[in-house]
Amino acid sequence: MSETFVVIGGGVGGGTAALALRAEGFTGRIVVLCEEPRAPYSKPPLSKGVLRGEEDPERTALRPPAWYEKKDIEIRTAVAATDLDVVRKVVQLSTGEELAYDKVLIATGGRPRTLPGSDGVPGVFTLRNVEDSLAIGRQLGPDTRLVVIGGGFIGGEVAASASALGCEVTVLEGRRAPLERLLPPTLAGLYMRLHTEHGVTFHTDIAVSDIAEGPRGLVAHAADGTSYPADLIVVGIGMVPRDDLALRGGLRVENGVVVDAQCRTSDPDVFAVGDVANAPQPYLGRRMRVEHWQNAQHQAKIAAKNMVGGSEEFAEVPWVWSDQYDVTIQIAGKPQPTDDVHLRGDVDGWNFSAVLTRDGGLVGCVAFNRTDDVRSVRRIMTERLPVSLEHLTDSRHDLGERAESAAAATQKEYV
Ligand code: NAP
Repeated sequence: MSETFVVIGGGVGGGTAALALRAEGFTGRIVVLCEEPRAPYSKPPLSKGVLRGEEDPERTALRPPAWYEKKDIEIRTAVAATDLDVVRKVVQLSTGEELAYDKVLIATGGRPRTLPGSDGVPGVFTLRNVEDSLAIGRQLGPDTRLVVIGGGFIGGEVAASASALGCEVTVLEGRRAPLERLLPPTLAGLYMRLHTEHGVTFHTDIAVSDIAEGPRGLVAHAADGTSYPADLIVVGIGMVPRDDLALRGGLRVENGVVVDAQCRTSDPDVFAVGDVANAPQPYLGRRMRVEHWQNAQHQAKIAAKNMVGGSEEFAEVPWVWSDQYDVTIQIAGKPQPTDDVHLRGDVDGWNFSAVLTRDGGLVGCVAFNRTDDVRSVRRIMTERLPVSLEHLTDSRHDLGERAESAAAATQKEYV
């Protein structure tokens, strides 16, 4: 009898997994549950082109509807999974139906953290889906006073988009520096400078405690007693994994759904990928959730292979990109604030990279527009190429050439 695989989630993880299952030759029934009223789509444009009104939200779709029909993949939109019973092997749906499965993939992502009391306050938004993006975008215009709470990726991308539309933008970051848990201070400072050079006011060490509605708009109150008036507030203060379904199903959950290297949960027929999955990250030497598009996409492909009987393990040097103004910021590896920074390129011209080392070893790269260096560092880390510390840290050496010659030398050793 034909098997049924259920994919829960309509983001890049869920969508990619469904496509990959067919590509892997699975001929059974595939059902994708999308809580939102749209087929699987990519979220990166939501804080950029869609927010600015430059990109049609329909173009964020991973594939057009006809494609799924052709591949005989059932896309159930506006249908959520409300319960998971791993003993009876059924998923309970928001429609009241029960869907029996042979294997299931959880790709439920996360939900934005919110400030207490701010839910439902007109003019206060978080950004996670197309509707959020459209609603925020409708209110952005010349001279709109926008306060962005949180100076991470959501905060930075929204600030850049709004500033391009002529808004008066203020970012309030609770930590001493933006992306402080990730970036060494030099790079965090440059990230902030990128914004201030574009006219954004960027305050650090300002933890917002609450938002109030005043006679002339909104006011964000910070813990230090300062306050910030706004017409519109976007809260980008991190996300929490949507692991409640897994919890109800009795799966192992610790800051997300715990999976093994094959993206399999504590139940052998249940898999999890993306923002919600707490997975081993071999290049970091520990397990963690990685909240980025690339990670979700790659894990989804691995999970699909293993759902059809494979035994492939996920291993990838983490990599993230973020477009802000005319700069593409890329981060490879998992930098720490205490890493040693070795700059190369033109810092003032926003075309530079920083090779990061820790205890004399390569741990990552951060680039502002200098994308080749990130590619080379990822290659060196992925293939564990023997490039000397001197070549890594001395900007006179081209990283791409060094990677190439190290790869050639390594191959020769095996001849
Ligand atoms: P984020 O990157 O974690 O940044 C949120 C920042 O807000 C943190 O520095 C946080 O400090 C700070 N914060 C927390 N509470 C605050 C408060 N009350 N007042 C002021 N600041 C406060 O989270 P995000 O920007 O919301 O993004 C959510 C997730 O989506 C992240 O994992 C992000 O990487 C991902 N994302 C990725 C991309 C991309 O790949 N291009 C784009 C958008 C989003 P604490 O650390 O102390 O909480």
